[in-house]
Amino acid sequence: MDSLADISRIEEDDRKVNSFIVLDKQRVSETGCRREGLLKGLSIAVKSNICVKGLIASCASKTLENYVSPYDATAVERIKNAGASIMGMTNMDEFACGSSGETSYYGPTQNPSAMGHIPGGSSSGSAAAVAAGFVDCALGTDTGGSIRNPASHCGIVGYKPTYGVVSRYGLIDLAMSLDQIGPLARDVKTCALLLEAISGHDHRDATSLDLDKDFYRFSKNLNAGLKDVKVGYAREFDELISDAGIKKAIHSAMDKLSSGGAEIIDVSLPNLGIAIPTYYLNVYVEFFSGTRKYDGRRYGHRIEETCGTEVLRRILLGSYISQKEYSGRFYKKALQARSVLRKDLSNALKVVDVLAGPTVPKLPHKLGATIDDPRVMYAYDIFTVIANLAGIPAGVVPAGKADGIPTGLQVMGDVLCDQKVLNVMAGFENC
Ligand code: GLN
Repeated sequence: MDSLADISRIEEDDRKVNSFIVLDKQRVSETGCRREGLLKGLSIAVKSNICVKGLIASCASKTLENYVSPYDATAVERIKNAGASIMGMTNMDEFACGSSGETSYYGPTQNPSAMGHIPGGSSSGSAAAVAAGFVDCALGTDTGGSIRNPASHCGIVGYKPTYGVVSRYGLIDLAMSLDQIGPLARDVKTCALLLEAISGHDHRDATSLDLDKDFYRFSKNLNAGLKDVKVGYAREFDELISDAGIKKAIHSAMDKLSSGGAEIIDVSLPNLGIAIPTYYLNVYVEFFSGTRKYDGRRYGHRIEETCGTEVLRRILLGSYISQKEYSGRFYKKALQARSVLRKDLSNALKVVDVLAGPTVPKLPHKLGATIDDPRVMYAYDIFTVIANLAGIPAGVVPAGKADGIPTGLQVMGDVLCDQKVLNVMAGFENC
């Protein structure tokens, strides 16, 4: 493969899409890269909040515009060892705060599968680069849906693993207790291959799980059979999908699963309505704490002086909620609500193998539409944040189009049931 020729082609075609912030024209990322391995011959794009030695990890912010990663994230080190070629660093919402890809300091990304619309976010560039055919697959990060939401809007596959399956070492965090690195690809097989390459225990991440070797063989253990698989559909999904086209696409996806041999079972997630405030209160507090290192002395510029509106909103609200005099009033409540949602999911997952349903409640808006009320943006996240709050695996696979715009079926499983989720995704893809 001639990576340099590919990069020149991407550079030309990406003028319309804006999926990359940095293209690795000097082939800096090739140092230490093997030619053989599980990912041999595959080209990969990396979200700009994951460290690739020698490349700028700006998090699409002005704050870190000149921050050159001094080392490789574990996921990146593993990609290099598996023989893949890194093409560059992708565009995203600033510090991964967003659901549209529009909060980047480097300008918004186009949705190659629905031009004129947002690609979703925050892993907007990673999803768009895959959807446009610039790369075979990409790394994204998912704190509340940032892999799954753009995968759905762009008509590709995206996967968030069980918390702790992929090391977070070298990831610039949004909210440490929720963040996971994960793959985006055009099909489930490639997604499973990339996941297999990047997962596994890492002593440099204290939250990394140390599991049996066979657990991590996601591509080798991939089995697309749906026969006798119990798939739960929460009745609350229908109340909360606001777009009729998405509802129709998801219902026909459930019919497809059923004709493929799965048994569809009605379940309930009674507290789904509190998912968004629960998620955002947790994120505000963790994000505020994580950003204290951007004081203008150690890394880049002082964040409060250079960031955009959404990042500033989170810092200010996080600082307010974290004040001593409020201790318990907001944050403790948010932690309690998180346990309630976790319990709902584990109850539902006791009677079924996986849950399947919508990824987003509404279609992506037009690029440039003014959205002043943050709650309108946050509303995209209702079906995705619960997996992060509970630490469970969740993936998205294309489920047709609504009004000509792709929408994805989301599959969620219990903690460590990653293979089950991937198998149902593959089964659906094969239907
Ligand atoms: N849209 C959510 C947020 O803005 C999720 C972001 C993410 O998963 N990185 O926080």
